[in-house]
Amino acid sequence: MESMLRLLPCACLLSFVCCVNAAAAAVVESVRAYRSPEYTRLVFDLDTPLEHKVFTLENPDRVVIDLIGAKAHGNLDDLPLKDTHIDSIRHAPRNDSDLRVVLDMNAKVQPRSFLLSKNEQYGDRLVIDLYDAGSGSTEARQVVASAATADNPKRNITVAISAGHGGEDPGAIGIDRLREKDVVLAIAREVEKRINATPGFHALMIRESDYYIGLRERVELAHQHDVDFYVAIHADAHTNNSATGVTLYALSQSGATSEQARLLAEKENAADLIGGVGPVSLTDKDEVLRSVLLDLSMTGSVATSLEIGKHLIDSLDNVTNLRRRNVEQAAFVELKSADIPSLLVESGYITNTKDAKNLASPEWRQRFANALVNGIVTWFRARPPVGTLVAWQKEGGTAASHGADTYTVQSGDSLSRIAQRYKMDASVIMFANDLSSDIIHVGQVLKIPSS
Ligand SMILES: [Zn+2]
Repeated sequence: MESMLRLLPCACLLSFVCCVNAAAAAVVESVRAYRSPEYTRLVFDLDTPLEHKVFTLENPDRVVIDLIGAKAHGNLDDLPLKDTHIDSIRHAPRNDSDLRVVLDMNAKVQPRSFLLSKNEQYGDRLVIDLYDAGSGSTEARQVVASAATADNPKRNITVAISAGHGGEDPGAIGIDRLREKDVVLAIAREVEKRINATPGFHALMIRESDYYIGLRERVELAHQHDVDFYVAIHADAHTNNSATGVTLYALSQSGATSEQARLLAEKENAADLIGGVGPVSLTDKDEVLRSVLLDLSMTGSVATSLEIGKHLIDSLDNVTNLRRRNVEQAAFVELKSADIPSLLVESGYITNTKDAKNLASPEWRQRFANALVNGIVTWFRARPPVGTLVAWQKEGGTAASHGADTYTVQSGDSLSRIAQRYKMDASVIMFANDLSSDIIHVGQVLKIPSS
């Protein structure tokens, strides 16, 4: 593109990263785009690290990326740019030796860039994050999750659901190239649906689609929303493909309960290196002070996490096989959420034939999410945090003057058994739900009228 060569590299030089002497031309092999709630991420796949410059130009808004001593291989122009602020992407050689990439923007952005070195999945990469104007951090996401409204002075119980990995970090890769980042997002969405369908509860999706969000940023987001419970959803992998089953983990302050737990924590904690948090500043300036404070306030929430975990194990036992009947413990960065009870669920082994089939199955994911949500909901109904609608109802408020409680049908349930549990006649439930017969199906949400 000739017009590009006339661009003057003038306005606001935002970064200049120096790393190697680029004697032989570096090759840009491909480019990918991801959209997060705050920014668009472009990832250039390189055959070797390189120097680069990024700057913006106005009227019209453009972002210019100069890749020093580089040439393009293949097509960089044909990216899905829907939902991003990029209208088009162009590239051309520059100065005989460099490559210039120009992004035509339809809005102002603040670029940040960094290199990611090669790992098991990818080679060397250059990451350009284009922050939307007025964002720049998780603060851009509105904090509305648990706010009480004038109509409803009692707040909801907020459950944060953190689908592991995402974007540049696929997590574990299993049978038939099944990717952990995809299956855990699918499970998270099922969990979200069911939490939001339960009166008195609200779900906060920490990762909403296929982009990477750093481990500490995840925790930060949970704090901003004053969540009551944090559940991280992952899937496991093992070189031995007979390893199978679900494991629940809580944070440990002092070592892991098993070597396996320690290794797993190491692997999940490495996600930031793979997914690319880069030097983008998180709010971790006072890391030392913070970690001291975290340790002090943690003891109580770990005990609560372990209790919830035990309760969830009983609930999950009905739908899947468990690798361990105890809640394991290890030092997961993602669970370092201070006063928030939190658990990490490894939903099965993506490297095991049977588990992978389950993880890939929408029906199984629904059953799994049902069991998880029923476990969370029954635990919090028995011990609702002060100030919540659920606490108010438990204390007799108008438990059901606003209608109904709900129950999500699990496998093995029958209408008569559910009715028995609520000490009412099955016909009462049929009437409340407009059912013409007593046939119910797994995943169905039933209104339970007040008795
Ligand atoms: Zn994982």
